[in-house]
Amino acid sequence: MNDCLFCKIVKKEIPSETVAETERALAFKDINPGAPTHVLVIPKEHIPSAQELDAAHGDLLGELFELMAKIASDAGLSRGHRLVTNVGPEAGQSVDHLHFHVLGGRPMSWPPG
Ligand code: AMP
Ligand code: ZN
Repeated sequence: MNDCLFCKIVKKEIPSETVAETERALAFKDINPGAPTHVLVIPKEHIPSAQELDAAHGDLLGELFELMAKIASDAGLSRGHRLVTNVGPEAGQSVDHLHFHVLGGRPMSWPPG
């Protein structure tokens, strides 16, 4: 996807603060953090949102969740953290490339706004 912001970050055409990287996944700091720890975890391949996922993505999703668990551990989030993926405009998805927010380091309320 030529005009996708996160594809450009994967290709290093736009700078980001990398937190971790695997063969199929990239984790980088959110540019506008909503918590002391706010990392975005994305597949390197372009997938628009969780709505396009199916069983064929099982291995990829396992890799993404393993990476998120490591990020939370490395950030010392032993008291808890939140994993979020927004799907579509009404949920607040602003970048149409699947991404999981890893948020932690402060108490959080529920339900989210
Ligand atoms: P969402 O609103 O769920 O689609 O999340 C998109 C996230 O991407 C927001 O939290 C933004 O702050 C973040 N974001 C936008 N541009 C960048 C960028 N260049 N580098 C890092 N994070 C970004
Ligand atoms: Zn993309």
